Formats: sequence, C-alpha cells, structure tokens
Amino acid sequence: MPIKFFYLLQKLTETIKGSYLKKCMNVCVLLILAALLTACSSNSSASADNGKQKEAQNNKAESDVKMKVTLLGTGSPIPSIKRFGASTLVEVGGEKLLFDAGRGSTIRLQQLGIKAGEIDKLFLTHLHHDHTVGFPDLLITGSVPIPSMGGRQEALKLWGPTGTQNMVDGFYQAYEKDVTNRQEVAKSANNGLKTKVNEFEEGVIYKNNGIEIIAFKVDHGSMKPAFGFRVNYKGKSVVISGDTTYSKNLIKNAKGTDLIIHEVIASDPEPDDESLSNTFKSISAYHSTPEQSAKVFKEIDPKLAVYTHIISLGMTDKDAKFVKRTNELYNGKVMLGEDLMTFEIGNEIDVKNQNKE
Ligand SMILES: [Zn+2]
Ligand SMILES: [Zn+2]
Repeated sequence: MPIKFFYLLQKLTETIKGSYLKKCMNVCVLLILAALLTACSSNSSASADNGKQKEAQNNKAESDVKMKVTLLGTGSPIPSIKRFGASTLVEVGGEKLLFDAGRGSTIRLQQLGIKAGEIDKLFLTHLHHDHTVGFPDLLITGSVPIPSMGGRQEALKLWGPTGTQNMVDGFYQAYEKDVTNRQEVAKSANNGLKTKVNEFEEGVIYKNNGIEIIAFKVDHGSMKPAFGFRVNYKGKSVVISGDTTYSKNLIKNAKGTDLIIHEVIASDPEPDDESLSNTFKSISAYHSTPEQSAKVFKEIDPKLAVYTHIISLGMTDKDAKFVKRTNELYNGKVMLGEDLMTFEIGNEIDVKNQNKE
C-alpha cells in the first residue's frame, strides 16, 4: 500500500500546474488521499491481524479437543421418535468407538454422516435388548458393499459381558438365510459380515493409539453382569454409566472424570409411594433417581454430568424435572441429554446440539 501511495503522490505532483489556489487545492486533495490510504492500509492490516488471531485461536481450540462424545440415543425401551435407543459414540485418537447399539443407532450415525460400515468396534454395557437390538442392523447394513453403507471389509469387533458370544451365535442362527444369501451374492467371502466377540471382565479391556477403555461393574439389579465404561485419552476422560442404580463401584471408577454420561429414572408416583405399581417399582429399583445420581456426581466431581437413558414413568420428561431435582442436592453442571447432542472434551467441554443447528 505505501508504494501505491507514493506512486500516486508523484503522479499528482507532476500534474499540479497552474494557480497558487489550484496548487493549494491539490495539496488538500493529496492530504485527504494520504489520510484515506493510511486509514485503509492500517484497517486492512488490523483486520488481517484479527483474522490471523481468530484462526490461531480456532486452531488452538481444535488441538485442545481430545475426544468427541455424541449421544446417538438417549431413550429407554419406551419407543420414542425423539429419543432413540441407548447408544453413545466416542470419537478419539482417530477411532470411532460405539457404546451400546440401541434402537435406531445406524440412523443416528447416518444423520452424523457416518456410515454403518465405518463402525468396526462396538462395546456393550449389558445384554438388555434396548442396548443390543441395533447390533444386527449395524452388522449387516455396514457389511453391504456399497458406498452409502460403508462396506465394512473386516469383522465387526464386539466387546460384551459373559453371554455375548451366545447372543451373537443365536443371531447368526436367526439370520442364517440372510447371511448365507449375502455371502453367495458377494461371490467371495464378505468378512464385514463376521463378528469377533471379546467377552470381558472388569479391568482394562482395550488399549490402542493412546486410548484406554476400562470396564467396571455397576448395579443393575438381577441383570448381571452389567458394566459401565471409562475412556481415557491424553489426560481426558468420559465415563458411561450403563444401566445402574446407585453404585459405589461406579463412583470409584468415575472419580475426577471430565464428562459422565449417566442414566436416570423418574416416576409418578415416586418409587417409595405404595400406590406405584409393582412393575414400576421393580424398574425403579435398578435404575438411578435424580437424587441418587446427585449423590454420585457429588462424589466424582465431573466437569459436566449429562443424563441419558431417560425414563419418565407416568409423566413427561419435562414434568420429571430431572435437572432441577439433581441441582437441589448437587451444585455442579448437569444437563438433560438429547439425541445428537455432542460434547467436545478439551480444556473446556464444548456442547453442541446438532438437532438445533
Ligand atoms: Zn438394562
Ligand atoms: Zn437399558
């Protein structure tokens, strides 16, 4: 910009000829031009600097993000168009890890632009159907060798509690006609249709690319075993409670986590009310009320607690007042999860709701 300015100045000086007044006017014009050019030059360099600063901040923010957690399904066995079945996606260290595959999980993945075939690692908290019914869909849909489905090339790796291999064997028996036909049509072995099961006990069940997954037992009544998971990566972590009532083992394993994805239940009347039906009573006994969850959050002190697997018996989610009831006993940050809500864990936790963007 300064070179342009001096060129202009030279040109104008050369052309100034005539009366003193004319010269004065020309000088004035030159001064105004100089002021304008200087302002323009400094403004553009200021905005360029601002742009660079913003870009640097964005890059920093992106590099701070260690893992991304997306709620694919925040519902329970109760069918709901707003809340699909239990399923949570954790994107970390370049991997996509799926925790539970409830009703409609492949549809929620597709909404994120992720094809079923891109998922090759699935972890099950327990074997209730609301956490597993999406498994055959994920397996078969993801194996279809067309781009829109992902065309998984290798076996789906499935980590689950004791009984998982049995469930998978039964599934292959139930879908024998379909699986055999697909293998025939493919004319060569379609490994994407296979499942490699890893049944686990408590402890570290996965280590790769700096990612560590710890499974720990929780208390889901007579449904045994039932697990929660903790995912650690570069000093950050997320804990998925699985289905559980108040559990000391959950507290022990979730201490100091950045983010906890926790289940919750509320009923009208309350679980201790005699008029509550026996069915509702027994369901409530192996899940967590907001008050029980508040006790857990107090002990583990997460940066953020988010409710999922939301069960409202005899009332709406709104009337259940999950967050309000929790905050009466716990003053940390609590949110009611929604399908496709995303949490980016870095120095801070950035919350995005893709349904509302
Ligand atoms: Zn369950
Ligand atoms: Zn469940």
